[in-house]
Amino acid sequence: MQHIENYINGELVAAHSKRSLHNVEPATGEAYSTTPDSDERDVGDAVRAAQGAFENWRLTPASERSCQLLRIADLIERDLDVLAEAESRDNGKPVSLARAVDIPRAAANFRFFATAILHDRSDAHITDTRAINYTLRRARGVAGLISPWNLPLYLLTWKIAPALATGNTAVAKPSEITPMTAYLLSKICIEAGLPPGVLNIVHGTGPSAGSPLVAHPDVPAISFTGGTTTGATIARIAAPMFKKLSLELGGKNPTVVFGDVDLDRILPELVRASFANQGQICLCGSRILVERTLYEQFVDRFVDAVQALAVGDPTDPETQQGALVSRSQLEKVKSYVELARDEGGRIRCGGHAPSDLPARCREGFFFLPTVVTDLAPDCRVQQEEIFGPVVTISPFDSESEAIDLANGTAYGLAASIWTHDLDRAHRVGAAVDAGVVWINCWLLRDLRTPFGGMKQSGVGREGGDEALRFFTEPQNICVHTP
Ligand code: NAD
Repeated sequence: MQHIENYINGELVAAHSKRSLHNVEPATGEAYSTTPDSDERDVGDAVRAAQGAFENWRLTPASERSCQLLRIADLIERDLDVLAEAESRDNGKPVSLARAVDIPRAAANFRFFATAILHDRSDAHITDTRAINYTLRRARGVAGLISPWNLPLYLLTWKIAPALATGNTAVAKPSEITPMTAYLLSKICIEAGLPPGVLNIVHGTGPSAGSPLVAHPDVPAISFTGGTTTGATIARIAAPMFKKLSLELGGKNPTVVFGDVDLDRILPELVRASFANQGQICLCGSRILVERTLYEQFVDRFVDAVQALAVGDPTDPETQQGALVSRSQLEKVKSYVELARDEGGRIRCGGHAPSDLPARCREGFFFLPTVVTDLAPDCRVQQEEIFGPVVTISPFDSESEAIDLANGTAYGLAASIWTHDLDRAHRVGAAVDAGVVWINCWLLRDLRTPFGGMKQSGVGREGGDEALRFFTEPQNICVHTP
């Protein structure tokens, strides 16, 4: 069995507690590695190392910081296959998805911020003939970075890259459920020659390793991605300490389909938007709203397409739907399907585990992609985040009803709108309460654009300039020019 270690001050080390957690392969249900069960002592070591490295790293010329991060990107690309297999084994997602999306995006995150800092600029304001004001943007210090299990390396590097690029040092706490690619990243950082202490990775559970990081007085900025309830806990701890906070939280995203669409063309994309990574992407559309003129035909065609998805061993290159990430996630999904039945929903496909899995996967956490109709908009299944392969489909009669339904939850992360009517697309896009709105596409990301949620989906934005701002403190210098 492989033993994952913490990455602190440039070295791979065990947790002080000497305890470890089992890391389970979702496709088989069996533990295949151990993860350090770290606590406040390990977090303390990591923060001290990051503090020790801060002054030198902050003063390292941007061109050199850029080279360091580009070396890491090169090594991620070199190790694409190894990382993709590790991510698939840890998370249950099809290896083809990890190879095509997760790992290339992790490299792109480093490349993007490594080059962005080369084009940095600062404003100057001339106050008549009396003064020149200019703005310095200073690295904040040690950044605390906490990430979830659904896109383990992709989301972790989305935080690490801008934090380091702007001259901060960091302590990262990956999800304890999917620690392997973060561990492989620590080895890559060592090989790339990243100075000790610039990045530290502490493994362990939220309460025992994440919470001390959030509460640490020497960590002025926390960037968190995860569930809304956890985000609220983190905000409660960090707010009285006036920490800089970025919270990327849950969603219940609407997919709004108007009657004028070309169903043949968009159906594969709608299926992907609903079930990519077994529906375990915060941006997946879990509530499909369809104009009534198209509704019956849509449900039939959509269900046929969903039933054609290949569910199976994530290591099989033909697999389109792998395993859910954990037994508890599987139980949660099952309980929501039961609830959908209780709430009067009609299960149009799925609703149970597949019966034809290969022998290796019989104890794995699999669930068929599931489509539910006939649910009221205010029932729990249509309001609460399930974060699994379950979507609902509901009809609407008018544009204003579509907007009301789209906005009718506590969340506001993402939405997609499908129509050929350009005016309507812009109108509905601007009326939907979502931080990210895709029109006739889904998950088409430009890393320069702001990313994040409205309402209970989060506070703050990541991506491009927003990330560069989050990790730096503006300081105005006013020079008198008599
Ligand atoms: P989670 O909130 O349970 O855990 C996320 C991370 O926080 C993990 O590393 C965990 O160990 C840590 N954590 C847990 N309790 C903590 C505490 N008290 N203090 C500090 N850290 C703590 O979320 P999850 O189950 O790993 O991920 C799924 C959730 O993430 C879903 O709600 C999904 O929508 C959300 N998500 C949001 C985005 C986004 O960009 N908005 C992206 C991906 C996932």
